[in-house]
Amino acid sequence: MNYTFERWNTTKSMDLYGVNDWGKGYFTLAGNGDLMVMPSPGQSADAVSIPEIVTGMKARGLDMPVLLRIENILSSRISKLNESFLSAITTLDYKGSYIGAYPIKVNQQEQVVEKITRFGSRYHHGLEAGSKAELIAAMGMLRDSKAPLICNGYKDEEFVDLGLYASKIGHFCIMVVEMPGELPLILERAKALGAKPVLGIRIKLSSRAGGHWADSGGDRSIFGLDTTQIVQAIDLLKQEDMLDCLQMVHYHLGSQISNIREIRTAVNEACQVYSGIFQEGAPLKYLDLGGGLAVDYDGSQSNFLSSRNYTLDEYCIDIIEAVMTSLHESPIPHPTIITESGRALVAYYSMLLFNVLDVTRFQTAALPETLPVDCHPQIQYMNEALQTLTIRNIQECFNDILFYRDEVRDLFNHGKISLRERSLSEQIFWAALNEIEKKARDLKHLTPELEDIQRALADIYYCNFSVFQSLPDSWAIGQLFPVMPIHRLDEEPTRRAIIADITCDCDGKLDRFIDSHELKRFLPLHELKDSEEYFLGAFLVGAYQETLGDLHNLLGDTNVVTVRIQKNGEFKFVGEQEGDTVADTLSHVSYDAKRLVVRFRKMAEEAVRKGNISPQERREIMQAYEAGLRGYTYFER
Ligand SMILES: *Cc1c(COP(=O)(O)O)cnc(C)c1O
Repeated sequence: MNYTFERWNTTKSMDLYGVNDWGKGYFTLAGNGDLMVMPSPGQSADAVSIPEIVTGMKARGLDMPVLLRIENILSSRISKLNESFLSAITTLDYKGSYIGAYPIKVNQQEQVVEKITRFGSRYHHGLEAGSKAELIAAMGMLRDSKAPLICNGYKDEEFVDLGLYASKIGHFCIMVVEMPGELPLILERAKALGAKPVLGIRIKLSSRAGGHWADSGGDRSIFGLDTTQIVQAIDLLKQEDMLDCLQMVHYHLGSQISNIREIRTAVNEACQVYSGIFQEGAPLKYLDLGGGLAVDYDGSQSNFLSSRNYTLDEYCIDIIEAVMTSLHESPIPHPTIITESGRALVAYYSMLLFNVLDVTRFQTAALPETLPVDCHPQIQYMNEALQTLTIRNIQECFNDILFYRDEVRDLFNHGKISLRERSLSEQIFWAALNEIEKKARDLKHLTPELEDIQRALADIYYCNFSVFQSLPDSWAIGQLFPVMPIHRLDEEPTRRAIIADITCDCDGKLDRFIDSHELKRFLPLHELKDSEEYFLGAFLVGAYQETLGDLHNLLGDTNVVTVRIQKNGEFKFVGEQEGDTVADTLSHVSYDAKRLVVRFRKMAEEAVRKGNISPQERREIMQAYEAGLRGYTYFER
């Protein structure tokens, strides 16, 4: 038994959980089984133990679940994106340049946007706003007048005015016309305010991308102007003598585009539109390709939805190359390429850490040594099937057991056998499934039925978090995220599990896990120890998850901790944000904590008057109620 345990090592855990595949060099394992995080890919000398960070957080009173952000990774992602484009530009001798703009909607948290503007300033990395609120945030956060501030989204007069004021005070603001009706409004307000805007035009491409966000591109896209509307816009600009304002062509194909061919096809089509508008006399300078740069969540490097079949370098090379090829024959100067990558910038730098609260196992009590003498024949047959189980007759044995189990249930329903006999048969059934599952682990190929057994027998690990609050895309669109233990990785994980959260919703679970080939229906985990907490992490959760999350069961925002890694594995806590208290989440749904206390106190006083509780008890109960309001919404130990 212990033999396999001794042979286990951290290399096997690395493979099992695909750390190198999805981690892209930001994660590794230490000899002691700790999961380590690295400030930049492969910088193992500076790696920091995640369990050590957890210990530090707990010592400071920050309970699980915690969203942990590693600042260095964000900085590294921004550099990588910009450097990859710069290197593609040099390699291919492209005459234009590259500039990035972070779309605020991907993670709007002030801390995140602040860091992006700070780390991005060396590349003049800008911001993209898709609404008034985002524009107002961006105008306050962006300092660099060379960094673009791109205004997408539907614009009312107030939005337009804000954008024009942004230009006036020196922001490099580009107003993108998303809807035909916006252009007259922008021109009118520009005149009224005496501002000369830089304009972009969002085009509708007929190229479509697959995936969840497919309708962002394509004829049915709800955003952007079709060719007729583009021509009308040009005519209006000419008429108003403002065609020189039109400097950018913009499109957004959708997010998480897993197939590089779709990206190339779209670039090509957009370049043709760009040429056409240029030939109409607009002094175009910028080509904005929007977002879409995907994250390889499952590490498979495929065109699977949770992955992508290209690297960042390939993405940059392909785009630059496609632009050069499309404009090859024309005298049009190479545009400055803009991308609005959000997901690829922020996904890596956040992880959700949580503890396991409890486990349910589908194992049976030990079977009796011998069956009762007068035992019903069907039950005896079941037992015989179990006793003669081998790896060769596994399927046959499974069929037999299932058959007899159903017969016994029938007999029971007809009053032919007793409750105890039926219970015995069910025990044999589960024991057989457990045996079959154990033996099936050695098989290379499993029939669908045998796979079902594995799922039926997987433990349920109850974990202290809410899928709806912290991993909403996992629930809403079946997005996969890497999930794994953050310690004990030098031990063999002998259990197979699915994960349940603490909402009382049957959808509050993770039962599909990443795998380099397809997807796994269970996650290998370690046995719990009485003496020690067990911690898991969900990774690459920095994009979209935070603000899409909701208050299902009134589980609120988690604690957030930001860490900066210094040299030689030293680290600093540079930011802490306490999660919602119960009173906070209640206030989101319009409760007033004070009013609740008053009401509850009335009830308690009535109980005193009726003699159900003593005044002293009332005091204790009130204290508990008020402490509850101040407390964390998650399970506290
Ligand atoms: C959402 C969005 C993005 C971000 O896309 P990612 O795939 O996360 O990079 C960029 N531009 C626009 C217009 C968007 O709506």
